[in-house]
Amino acid sequence: MNFSDSEIVNSIMTDQGHKAAASPEQADIVFVNTCSIRDNAERKVWDRLKYFRSVRNKNQQDQIVGVLGCMAERIREKFLDEEKLVDLVVGPDAYRDIPNLLAQVDDGRKAVNVILSLEETYADIAPVRTTGNGVTAFVSIMRGCDNMCSFCVVPFTRGRERSRSIDSILDEIRQLSENGYREVTLLGQNVNSYNDNGTTFAELMYRASLVDPEMRIRFSTSHPKDFPDELLSIINERPNICNYIHIPAQSGNSEVLKRMRRPYTREAYLSLIDRMKEIIPGVALSTDIITGFCGETEAQHEDTLSLMDIVRYDLAYMFAYSERERTLAHRKFEDDIPEEVKKRRLSEIIELQMRNQAALNREEIGRTHLVLVEGESKRNAAQLSGRTDTNKMVVFDRMDYQPGEYVKVRITDRTAATLKGKPLGRSSIQAFSQSEYADLKAEPVRV
Ligand code: SAH
Ligand code: SF4
Repeated sequence: MNFSDSEIVNSIMTDQGHKAAASPEQADIVFVNTCSIRDNAERKVWDRLKYFRSVRNKNQQDQIVGVLGCMAERIREKFLDEEKLVDLVVGPDAYRDIPNLLAQVDDGRKAVNVILSLEETYADIAPVRTTGNGVTAFVSIMRGCDNMCSFCVVPFTRGRERSRSIDSILDEIRQLSENGYREVTLLGQNVNSYNDNGTTFAELMYRASLVDPEMRIRFSTSHPKDFPDELLSIINERPNICNYIHIPAQSGNSEVLKRMRRPYTREAYLSLIDRMKEIIPGVALSTDIITGFCGETEAQHEDTLSLMDIVRYDLAYMFAYSERERTLAHRKFEDDIPEEVKKRRLSEIIELQMRNQAALNREEIGRTHLVLVEGESKRNAAQLSGRTDTNKMVVFDRMDYQPGEYVKVRITDRTAATLKGKPLGRSSIQAFSQSEYADLKAEPVRV
């Protein structure tokens, strides 16, 4: 989401005639786009700001430093209390005001705008995508969140939920397709509640998939509480909608989920996973897990481990609970799990996930996937890397393939996080879906 927001700010700055500097150290203006989700995310930002203060003291005395995003919204004017740290503070809904705020700073004043909006979606601002790979892009479809999970600061820093108009989303996808992009990820904190005057997320996905049949469509994040079967059928039926769902569980215990204000039980979550696997054969799943939430007992932690073992996630983002001010958990519950217990539980969760992931990756050997090439492999310039429809990273010999092309790849080996394969020739979503796709969806071939 921040990556996508930075592209909006890039667009606003480019419109004002600014250009990207060779490095942040040489820039006249530095923006630090920030995250407040956990304390360690904020700590990194403080370190970064202090680093820029030292750069300023050394050789860039006039450098302007701005804090953008969630931390700006959370900490507000207090950023200005620290000497020579920050000149402007801009919340997630105030990016259009940046030119005015910069003018204030030029006048020698500090500038702050942290007003949250009920309408702002930046729908008319075309993001400037200079830092991406030119093949995959994020498209923001909604902002804010109304869910109020008890641990989460997002509703306070990003404000009320609002959906961007479907027409502006489809236009952006069309333009990306014309500019050679091959994949978009539709972004929102809770995409299932997308609602543009009655248009649902399922409808948006369907129409997005029609824009360009050779454009892959992904989405993130969906909430387990309102995932309709209709959407699952659309994902299954449209070849260019990827068979990969990020569906955060947070915990495997119903009581903990209740305290988290996640309105589903362990059983409801597991039956949703069953429906996903049934309606979309071969679907890949990923999750977010918080460990050590207020009052979590050892038995409740075990429930999370067992849930992860039942689902067998292809990928998981796992976090130790970090208490955030203003949230319901901060007001109502005690952050009573000692740090070392959180750490131990987190490492148990990570270990289990790594084992499951390794087993799932072993099962991939021998399968043929359609891989969208994203660019050169980080480790080896003679190889390319790209993703399968199921979002797994694959590396293979470069031959004469190019980023942005679809290549049929047979998986021959794997490491902890990556699959290795042998390229079998160029293909397309449509060609692949009529041949191999059917096999891929059949029972996995075990070797
Ligand atoms: N809207 C998304 C999540 C956005 S935040 C969703 O509901 O799925 C990304 C992840 O950060 C969350 O899913 C949660 O696992 C984690 N997270 C949020 N608040 C946290 C906190 N206070 N401590 C630790 N992890 C947290
Ligand atoms: Fe936070 Fe819950 Fe909203 Fe996700 S759905 S952003 S976890 S409040």
